[in-house]
Amino acid sequence: MLQSEMLKYQELDGQLRKMKNDLEKNEFRMRGKKLNALRQQTEDYMSQLDGKAIDLNNQVATLRKKYDDVVKHIEEYSKLADDIRDTDELNYLKKKINTQLDLLKSIEKELSDIASSAEKIFAEYAETVKVKLPQILSQYRECNNKFNEIISTSQPVVDGLRTQLNQLEKVINPEIMEIYKKIRQQNIYPVFVLLEGKSRCGGCRMDLSGSAVSRIDESGYIRCEHCGRIVYKAE
Ligand SMILES: [Zn+2]
Repeated sequence: MLQSEMLKYQELDGQLRKMKNDLEKNEFRMRGKKLNALRQQTEDYMSQLDGKAIDLNNQVATLRKKYDDVVKHIEEYSKLADDIRDTDELNYLKKKINTQLDLLKSIEKELSDIASSAEKIFAEYAETVKVKLPQILSQYRECNNKFNEIISTSQPVVDGLRTQLNQLEKVINPEIMEIYKKIRQQNIYPVFVLLEGKSRCGGCRMDLSGSAVSRIDESGYIRCEHCGRIVYKAE
């Protein structure tokens, strides 16, 4: 025979289990998790934008060097202009200068492309920092506060159940208690189930062997060979 205290213990343990499960699946907790992931994503995105901005800066630095080079060349060619003696030399110099001017144009074009990319990046960054991220953070805080409220409301009930469980444990056969805890650790609930009909496990509904059924009469309970629960007989 199973002690009625053991069954009462199982019932209260079930209530505690349900409360924990409900808290796990709580909508504010789930939303909070999603918002936290979104915050992480947004921060990652901002780092990406940072990286792009650094990249653009480096490109500008490279172009500046190219620009300085071109200016230096043009200055050199201008000095040479004073010593020109014939049209061939003049044409040659013109060609040289035109090449540098073309280079200058392409540098200008690249700089203007970089400037428009930078503008987009800065706008995106500002929007993320000033609007998107604060929105996510405030929603996250709201969710967290609501979930904390729920936790603090359920805490006294949880404490009450734990106290009752501790008291019951003192009067329950330690051997049975140990069996219960061992099986319960495998996330099996309920642990103790009634024998259904003559030979069926009340947990998994499978038929127990004849020898198992006959052992119920001796010890009051047996372990189901299919699902691992403890099957007991009604009084
Ligand atoms: Zn079973």
